[in-house]
Amino acid sequence: MYDVAVIGAGPTGSYVAYQTQKAGFKTIVIEEHPSIGEPSFCAGIVGKEVFERLSLAEDSVQNRINFLIMHSPAGKKISLVSKKTHACILDRTSFDRQVAHLAIDEGTSFLMSTRCTDIVTNAGHVKIKLATSPMSETEIKAKVCVLATGAFYGLHKRLGLSVPRDFLDCSQTEVEISEPLNAIELYFGREVAPGSFGWIVPVNSKMARIGLSTKRNSTFYLSNLISKKEVNARIRDKKPILRRRIVPVDTIEKTYLERLLVIGDSAGHVKPVTGGGIFYGLLCAKLASETIINAFNNGGINQRSLRAYETKWKKIIGLELKVGRFVRRFMNTLTDENLDNLISTFKNDSRAKNILEQSHAFDWHKDIILSLLKTPSLSGKIYKKLLWNIFNKDEAYA
Ligand SMILES: Cc1cc2nc3c(=O)[nH]c(=O)nc-3n(C[C@H](O)[C@H](O)[C@H](O)COP(=O)(O)OP(=O)(O)OC[C@H]3O[C@@H](n4cnc5c(N)ncnc54)[C@H](O)[C@@H]3O)c2cc1C
Repeated sequence: MYDVAVIGAGPTGSYVAYQTQKAGFKTIVIEEHPSIGEPSFCAGIVGKEVFERLSLAEDSVQNRINFLIMHSPAGKKISLVSKKTHACILDRTSFDRQVAHLAIDEGTSFLMSTRCTDIVTNAGHVKIKLATSPMSETEIKAKVCVLATGAFYGLHKRLGLSVPRDFLDCSQTEVEISEPLNAIELYFGREVAPGSFGWIVPVNSKMARIGLSTKRNSTFYLSNLISKKEVNARIRDKKPILRRRIVPVDTIEKTYLERLLVIGDSAGHVKPVTGGGIFYGLLCAKLASETIINAFNNGGINQRSLRAYETKWKKIIGLELKVGRFVRRFMNTLTDENLDNLISTFKNDSRAKNILEQSHAFDWHKDIILSLLKTPSLSGKIYKKLLWNIFNKDEAYA
């Protein structure tokens, strides 16, 4: 019997496995794909804190950027140069493999091309049903299981767990570019990405990731963005391959059971404003491994000992997620005129612009949002819009 079985070899699953195996607990990771980190679908943007807080090497960083250009629906532009921090652009395949190798080097077993089809809790252990093909089923036992399946929720329903209530539909492609880009570009507007935004992320001097998140039909909107004159002129690939995936922007109701913890996208540990889940997912993976190690060392695995995980993550990111969800719902209600107005305000008000440019907090949005709300030129517009939404019972607030 294994001590810990982790379902999913994304960064969060591999990170838990690395920590529990390092602490001396026999750990196995189950992954349905044949190769870790593939297929790759992510823009790979993280702040430096992910390496510092999780003690990870920066080997998978392909690019570092401190320059951001925001495009408003009417074509207004604002350029922001961050003075205190920069975005690190990851090669996600190599990052996922880097974290998995830390676990493998400690002695964790990885079972690839193997899908977990069911998890049953029994007295003293969990039984994990596995399929390598529809005709070949087997099972393993573990004292505790960690669900790190990303934005796939089939097992949640079988386990009686809830699923997130809100998602972003995302599409992305990686393309060859005709000239080097030095800024991350964000595109806003109802015609580009309703309720959210599109992005161009320079990977290196030859390649960029172009993607967007929205409520639905993300591939349709991404095709439109790519065909926009100012975007298309910079792309060499004329038939890019689009990859589509959902991202949760809401947490599940309960992230622990008698012998199970839920982490990463599987739990909804994602920044609601941007859809970025690598940092919060890994932060919670660390808390999950600490909780499991603590439970093993102090009386064993049970619902009471595992509950500490949820208490801890709520304390660290709970309020951030609440504020982020509110902003996401607010973003949903913005008209193109509102967006043009807001972007003009950032452009013309040095105090508002400074808040964004001087911020250290790449991954912590709450304080930036609260500071922006104290800026007179912005707060007037935002409060007016909020009141309008409330009195008009906008569906995003229903
Ligand atoms: C287009 C796009 C762009 C993004 N850009 C960013 C970004 O710039 N920055 C950022 O921080 N985040 C970004 N994200 C989000 C980020 O990719 C996720 O938050 C992150 O991958 C979550 O890691 P995870 O380990 O929880 O899940 P995943 O990385 O999704 O890993 C889950 C693993 O579980 C496996 N699995 C699932 N079900 C089973 C099963 N039943 N049996 C066995 N294996 C299973 C899957 O195959 C997968 O390998 C983006 C997402 C998308 C879609």
